[in-house]
Amino acid sequence: MTIEEVSLDIVQTALQQHKEFFKTGTTRPIKYRKQILERFAKVIKDHEKDIIEALKTDLGKSEMETYATEIGILLEEIRFILKHIDDWAEAKKVKTAKTHIGSKAYKVPEPYGVALIIAPWNYPFQLALSPVIGAIAAGNTAIIKPSELTPHTSKLLERLINTQFETNHIMVIEGGVETTQHLLRQPFDYIFFTGSVPVGKVVMEAAAKQLIPVTLELGGKSPCIVDDTADIPLAAKRIAFGKVTNAGQTCIAPDYLFIHKKVKQQFIQEFKKVIVEFYGTEPLQSDTFGRIVNERHFNRLTNYLQDGEILLGGKVDHASLKMEPTLLVPRDVTVPVMQDEIFGPIFPVLEYENLQEVIDFVTERPKPLALYLFTSDEKVEERINHSISYGGGCVNDTLMHIVTPYLPFGGVGESGIGNYHGESSFSTFSHYKSVLKQTTKFDMSFRYPNGRFGMQIIKKLLK
Ligand code: NAD
Repeated sequence: MTIEEVSLDIVQTALQQHKEFFKTGTTRPIKYRKQILERFAKVIKDHEKDIIEALKTDLGKSEMETYATEIGILLEEIRFILKHIDDWAEAKKVKTAKTHIGSKAYKVPEPYGVALIIAPWNYPFQLALSPVIGAIAAGNTAIIKPSELTPHTSKLLERLINTQFETNHIMVIEGGVETTQHLLRQPFDYIFFTGSVPVGKVVMEAAAKQLIPVTLELGGKSPCIVDDTADIPLAAKRIAFGKVTNAGQTCIAPDYLFIHKKVKQQFIQEFKKVIVEFYGTEPLQSDTFGRIVNERHFNRLTNYLQDGEILLGGKVDHASLKMEPTLLVPRDVTVPVMQDEIFGPIFPVLEYENLQEVIDFVTERPKPLALYLFTSDEKVEERINHSISYGGGCVNDTLMHIVTPYLPFGGVGESGIGNYHGESSFSTFSHYKSVLKQTTKFDMSFRYPNGRFGMQIIKKLLK
């Protein structure tokens, strides 16, 4: 199945209709936003089977993985937003300064207008809709461009959204690079992009031409550090979970491992055991282990197998586009598997003795989207967090920081700009208008050019 590009005309008409709908003010009342969010939850629940089937076809995802990472996470986000939206959407009073005696001030969130949401293929359902939930909660309209690389999910999104919602409020426009380029030339009010660093730069450049605010949720190499005080069997299990979920095609998957020399052998043995526990001795035959999205990515990953000594796995099946969970000791750190974002089930292992080596290695490279530290030493935790900048991460776990709506999710530096989830989804898609309401009961004349004692009073107040 392939996804056709759409014409510039269709894109322009869709945007025009969204702008007109936004202008009517329909999306402003909180009651309306809640109704739409409730409908969102219902549509997702009613089509659970279709979603599971599309993800199975596009990525070989198991039912449980699809439920946890594509369906459940969205339902939880909607539930959380519905619970808090009244509070978030209220105008909030703020103090006024002593120069403003008699006045009141407040901040009021307002929607930007029409949001463009561009999604990647690795969690193609969830990553297309999670930002939409934020955009709708904040009172915007949304046009969604799903990834063309997961066509069954793209088609499903188009069918669900374009038939269950007003298309001038929420609409899916399917297509590939050409369609995205048409979209990026239009005067949207907000652009929310999830994808790779190079395309993130294309998006930001296009947005800059029209001064459109952007959120960029990007990728990169996320390190995993295990020190000699860590609970090694538990670390191996939680790290394996982070690496093999979606066959490693997760933006926040642990990309490579730094392991303390003293516990390296034990970790490798435990990691091997865990993979057998998860998928048996033949992971390629396992129904619950996903496949690589397409042949281009499969070949890219297969090439990385030349980059060092394989300690575990390494077998591939071209017909099913599957690759075993693989531990690899890279020849050196200049080989491609240590340069590119891996985005697959290969896990390079680097050994260290002194934590400073790890800090130097990570800080000499672009700031990671995620970092995972396994330790029972709080001083090590503090040292890592004080010396390395990264988007977000976990101590003694992997991936789970993305699941809680209480933590904002996003990158820093090359791994992204801005964040979302929970309240951050609401604030990302809101402009906070600042309003000062001045008293008319009196007028402080000192600020005027002819005011008496103006200079003296201003000097007293502003120092
Ligand atoms: P991608 O950048 O290739 O594609 C993302 C979207 O951009 C797709 O909809 C695609 O159609 C469009 N696109 C591709 N090339 C384009 C171009 N030249 N001009 C305009 N639009 C273009 O990303 P991907 O391969 O779909 O996803 C994988 C990447 O996304 C990884 O780097 C991963 O780390 C990152 N990612 C990040 C997050 C996050 O939340 N930070 C989540 C998932 C994936």
